[in-house]
Amino acid sequence: MREGTVNDINTTTLEADEADAPLSGLDRCDSCGAQAYVRATMESGTLLFCAHHAAKHHDALQPLAKVWHDETAKLQER
Ligand SMILES: [Zn+2]
Repeated sequence: MREGTVNDINTTTLEADEADAPLSGLDRCDSCGAQAYVRATMESGTLLFCAHHAAKHHDALQPLAKVWHDETAKLQER
């Protein structure tokens, strides 16, 4: 029996989970308003991009982003 030893496991990594959460159809590109497929989690906040603007801004922003969450592969599946 090992009860009472797992209480403080799920108190951390909230930020990481959020930065890695899947994008939905409600997420819109900050540049053009199309459906977002990339989320860049920056020090100062979060940016959303469609595939087009993600490609355009990737080289400039990706090195600065804490998390570059890229779902553009979804577009190529079908
Ligand atoms: Zn866009």
